[in-house]
Amino acid sequence: MLTCKDQDVWIKFLEFIKKRISESEYKNWFSHIKVLDLNENEITLQVPSIFVQQYILDNYKKDLIIFLPTTKNGDLAINFVIKENKKKKIISPTLPAAINDRDETKFNTQYTFDNFIEGPSNQFVKSAALGVAQKPGKSFNPLFIHGGVGLGKTHLLHSLGHYIRTHHKRSVIKSITTEAFINDLVANLRNKSVDRMKRFYRNLDVLIVDDIQFLQNRPNFEEEFCNTFEALINQNKQVVIASDNPPSHLKLSPRLIARMEWGLVAHMGVPDLETRVAILIHKASLKGVTIPSDVAFFIAERIFNNVRQLEGAINRLAAYSRLLNSELTKELAENILKEMLSFTPQKKLSVENILKSVASFFEIKASDVRGESRLKKIALARQVAMYLSKELITDSLQKMAASFGGKTHSTLLHAWKKITNEIKVNQTLQKQIEIIKKNIEA
Ligand code: ADP
Ligand code: MG
Repeated sequence: MLTCKDQDVWIKFLEFIKKRISESEYKNWFSHIKVLDLNENEITLQVPSIFVQQYILDNYKKDLIIFLPTTKNGDLAINFVIKENKKKKIISPTLPAAINDRDETKFNTQYTFDNFIEGPSNQFVKSAALGVAQKPGKSFNPLFIHGGVGLGKTHLLHSLGHYIRTHHKRSVIKSITTEAFINDLVANLRNKSVDRMKRFYRNLDVLIVDDIQFLQNRPNFEEEFCNTFEALINQNKQVVIASDNPPSHLKLSPRLIARMEWGLVAHMGVPDLETRVAILIHKASLKGVTIPSDVAFFIAERIFNNVRQLEGAINRLAAYSRLLNSELTKELAENILKEMLSFTPQKKLSVENILKSVASFFEIKASDVRGESRLKKIALARQVAMYLSKELITDSLQKMAASFGGKTHSTLLHAWKKITNEIKVNQTLQKQIEIIKKNIEA
């Protein structure tokens, strides 16, 4: 029997890692591990599958080494025992949704082709998506859509899904985010039902995958995804993928990158002023609000590269005008959207304020920005937050760096330099930073 003290190093490790990874990662990888034995020389861990064992060694070795016993060569001294699954159920009542429920995929009813406003920046990608929806598996395969945050990628994926569901009723279609695919796979591994999952995915007619960038740095999942992907493409089944970056910019295996480039790679650009105005007017009309064009121009000129934020502005404005029972005017817009549209440096700005704005822009948690994750998006968010801190706050570098989960001042300085150089050549990033600045609330 193990005493509490014996378990201490493992508990300390868990406490340490819990602060550094997301809740779902923690649940997936660590919550099912048990310490069976521990002495000075080695630790024996019971894991649910070999997959979990491999994953934690691949991804958390340097953290494990801090806490757990090591060999003379400095290698981890862990014995793994795979947990026997005692009950071998033939039909499991808790089978993951992907297997049981074929109609699980739900599409946002607002995200249709009809509700998608076209402009020079997105015409091509919209036509490609419509082409694929009309003839799944027979035009571009795979269709790979990439572009920045909030530009309508998910909207187009759902439009395509709706269309296929309505016009090709027999097609078996699955739309999934990469994160959900990974969770599915983990759940199926736990239930020992991976074969069923494979069968399910390989029998689809259409597979739609959103945010494939989350497959980066996850080699085990990548392999499974790649196999599924190839199996579908080889049978002329349609695959549609969305990502924040083109295939060649993703940290994935050359094999998967090449496969993703096989079909059509289409870029979703930032809509120009006229398109932004048209989007505003359309979104307002969906809310039953009429927005005069001078007001639409006023807003569209000030929120330039994220349609989601345009939408946020219109929602807010619509709510206010209803509440105040007043017409939408430029003055009202200026008043109500003040923080969204203009940035006035405030004296009492803190790293915390900056973290909030950065996290909400990149749609991640502020704790992730403070953490250690090297995921591209999070690392970029962190550097942007560090850059803005140095630009906007007059505190000592040391003090500010400490607010980033105890980083050093040289890390902060390095991030500042990197972003300073990057925005000289990268207009998109420059504009993104402008938006983040505008949204900082002191
Ligand atoms: P992404 O997946 O690229 O981050 P989304 O598809 O989630 O972006 O789009 C964010 C919001 O902006 C959604 O509410 C979507 O309806 C809206 N949107 C983006 N582009 C357009 C467009 N061209 N026409 C209408 N709405 C759009
Ligand atoms: Mg999206």
